Amino acid sequence: MKLLQDKNVIITGASRGIGRGIAEIFADNGANVAFTYSSSEGPALELQNELEAKGVKAKAYKSNAGSFEESEKLVADVLGDFEGIDVLINNAGITKDNLLMRMGEEDFDTVIEINLKSVFNMTKAVQRTMLKARKGSIINMSSVVGVKGNAGQANYAASKAGMIGFTKSIALELGSRNIRCNAIAPGFIETEMTDKLDEKVVQGWRDAIPLKRGGTPEDVANACLYLASDLSAYVTGQVLNVDGGMLT
Ligand code: NAP
Repeated sequence: MKLLQDKNVIITGASRGIGRGIAEIFADNGANVAFTYSSSEGPALELQNELEAKGVKAKAYKSNAGSFEESEKLVADVLGDFEGIDVLINNAGITKDNLLMRMGEEDFDTVIEINLKSVFNMTKAVQRTMLKARKGSIINMSSVVGVKGNAGQANYAASKAGMIGFTKSIALELGSRNIRCNAIAPGFIETEMTDKLDEKVVQGWRDAIPLKRGGTPEDVANACLYLASDLSAYVTGQVLNVDGGMLT
C-alpha cells in the first residue's frame, strides 16, 4: 500500500519549483492533489495532466494565498471537488530582497502577506474540516533563513521565522484533536530559478554545504512525504532542516 493512498492534499504554489516536486512525489504515493498557482496557468494545467496520468485525482486552482477571502473560497471549492482534506502544505512564497536601508514598506508588507499571512489564511480555512475528521497534517515551508537570519532578507527571514512560531502554536492548540503541524526549513534548493544565477557563485554555495551539493525539490518533497504520512504519527511542532547540513 502506498504511503498516501487516497489521502486528499492541498499544496499552495505548486506550478513550479519545490511545490511541483511535492505534488509529483505525493501523486506517486497515491495522494489526490489539489494545488494552487498565482499566474502560471500553462504550467499548472500541464502539471494537473501529469498528475492525473499517474492515476490520482488532481486539480489546479488559481488562488492568491495572501488573500483571506480567496483562501476560504479555495477550500470550499476543494471540498466540493474532493472528499475531505487530510494534508495541507503551505508552500507558496516569494522574495523581495534588499538591504533594510533600501527596503520599501510595500516590499515588507507584500512578503509578510504572501509568506506568513497565507499560512494563517489557509490553516484557518482547513481547520473546521480537520477538526471534524479528528485528523490532519499541516506542513509549513519555512527556510533556514527563518532559523538563522540573512542580510538582505529581513522581510523574508521575518516571514519564515513567523511561520515557525505559528507552527509550534498550532501544534499545541490542535494536538489533542490529532492534528499535527510541522515546518520544513530547506537550505539552498536548486530550481529553475537558481539555474539563472552565476555558476561560479552557485558552486561556491555548494562547496560550503557539508553534503557538497544543493538540494533538489525531491529532497524537500521526501521530507514532506514523511511529515504527511503516518510514518510521523507521533511528530508535531517540529522544524525539520532539509539543508545538507548547512546549519550544522
Ligand atoms: P518558486 O519556484 O518561486 O515557486 C513559487 C510558487 O508559489 C509558484 O508555484 C508560484 O505560482 C506560487 N505563488 C507565488 N505567489 C503566490 C500567491 N500569492 N498565492 C499562491 N501561490 C503563489 O519557489 P520555490 O523555490 O519552489 O520555493 C517554494 C517555497 O519554499 C517558498 O515558500 C520558499 O520561500 C521556500 N524555500 C525555497 C528555498 C529554495 O532554495 N528554493 C529555500 C528555502 C525555502 P506562479 O508560478 O503562478 O507564480
